[in-house]
Amino acid sequence: MNLSLQITISTLTLLAPILILLLVTSSVGAQTKSQANPQARNSTQPEHSSQTQALARRPQIVRIIAEIDARNIERTIRKLVSFGTRNTLSPQDDSNRGIGAARDWLYSLFLKAAEKSAGRMTVEKQGFEQSKAARVPAPTMVTNIVATLKGTQPESENRIYIVSGHYDSMCTIPTDAKCDAPGADDDASGTAAVLEIARVMAKYKFDATIVFMAVAGEEQGLLGSTYFAEQAKQRALDIDAMFTNDIIGNTLGGNGVRDRRTVRVFSEGVPSNEKPEEANVRRGVGGENDSASRQLARFIRETGERYVPGMKVMMVYRRDRYLRGGDHIPFLERGFPAVRFTEPNEDYHHQHQNVRTESGIKFGDLPEFVDFAYTANVARINAANLAALALAPAAPKDVAIVTARLTNDTDLRWGANKEPDLAGYEIVWRDTTSPLWTKSHWVGKVTSYTLKGMSKDNYFFGVRAVDRDGNKSPVSFPRPTGRTAPSDRSAAPTRPLP
Ligand SMILES: [Zn+2]
Repeated sequence: MNLSLQITISTLTLLAPILILLLVTSSVGAQTKSQANPQARNSTQPEHSSQTQALARRPQIVRIIAEIDARNIERTIRKLVSFGTRNTLSPQDDSNRGIGAARDWLYSLFLKAAEKSAGRMTVEKQGFEQSKAARVPAPTMVTNIVATLKGTQPESENRIYIVSGHYDSMCTIPTDAKCDAPGADDDASGTAAVLEIARVMAKYKFDATIVFMAVAGEEQGLLGSTYFAEQAKQRALDIDAMFTNDIIGNTLGGNGVRDRRTVRVFSEGVPSNEKPEEANVRRGVGGENDSASRQLARFIRETGERYVPGMKVMMVYRRDRYLRGGDHIPFLERGFPAVRFTEPNEDYHHQHQNVRTESGIKFGDLPEFVDFAYTANVARINAANLAALALAPAAPKDVAIVTARLTNDTDLRWGANKEPDLAGYEIVWRDTTSPLWTKSHWVGKVTSYTLKGMSKDNYFFGVRAVDRDGNKSPVSFPRPTGRTAPSDRSAAPTRPLP
């Protein structure tokens, strides 16, 4: 019998903190708990996960936020613009002009960032030959710059979070490789944010692995990101989140609205790779607003607004802007949770336009239209989230609502996390019409829990994992299962009960 003593300080008792000694069994942790009143106090809560400390900020993340510097972002954007064009079809062997010069410069800067990582960050050029395609008239080399900051917890090092921007650009005609295509906003802004985040985060340690990526071929048809996502799928990489930052620099929209405080985060509700049988289950239980990408968007909003005061994360319930796309889509199509960050109001005079002046209107994606301080704030929101994700345990796996009995209770169960610093789990719930999780309840280190008298008809439920420092995973949304055996997760009912 493996017994250990754990000292927990009750954080809810403000007047007279009580030291409680708890006997905790540290075997597999598969006890079952149930509680009539989920709002009641529970003294097994870890120090930082109570409602009263829900807004606690981790010092490491606060330092990262503070070190992100808008001046570096401005320098990178101006440098990328100085290559004249970064069209994917432009010269690859000219050291001054074209995408090859941009590629080599970015590679050298990511290598420089890696110097501060004590060997944890490695940088590679991931190149491949793209065959002829709609916007590729002849076979062309496409090269992604990929910087990988290895996680330091053995149980988490294979869990991967990706942040990406595309360093290629275009003017009016996508295959015109000669015209000037400054691409300051689209997407030197996203690339500069990723480089700055990598520079700052390289010297810090995280449990899980973070990949900082500048991809090419976006304007030619999401080529670089598609290649990366396909390789990841074939290698069965455990990518738990992918952020693309694309067009994150302009704060004066074509609609005349100036907004320096909002970033849009696009997330899809129904997974792009949903199978017909999964759609059938979803129709039976709901969940069109509860994909892993949507849970990620909720996490990003909460974490971003906590760490970057004054910034608002506007969740948009769409995969991307209306009929448009970005580098997160190839990831979504392969089952990886992914979202897109974009400025709140775009100005189409400054995207995909030859640089020119017509009737007094300046066209072209020039640095003078980029708000570098704003881009830095979007970078901070990214960094806070990457750090929060990579410090936290994985989102619980195999989360299910057991439907073996018709009842007004809700029986939840999930697979045990493997991180050694895991403290336990929280059940979260919300009204079915609420965009955000509104309630949470600490249940400890268990793998099942019954919410007495709380009907699964009336709420959406989820489960998240919490470590001993109070770092919380994104929420996992349960699937229904008619069985009680933990291994039997495919047993979802496909026909509604009468
Ligand atoms: Zn773009």
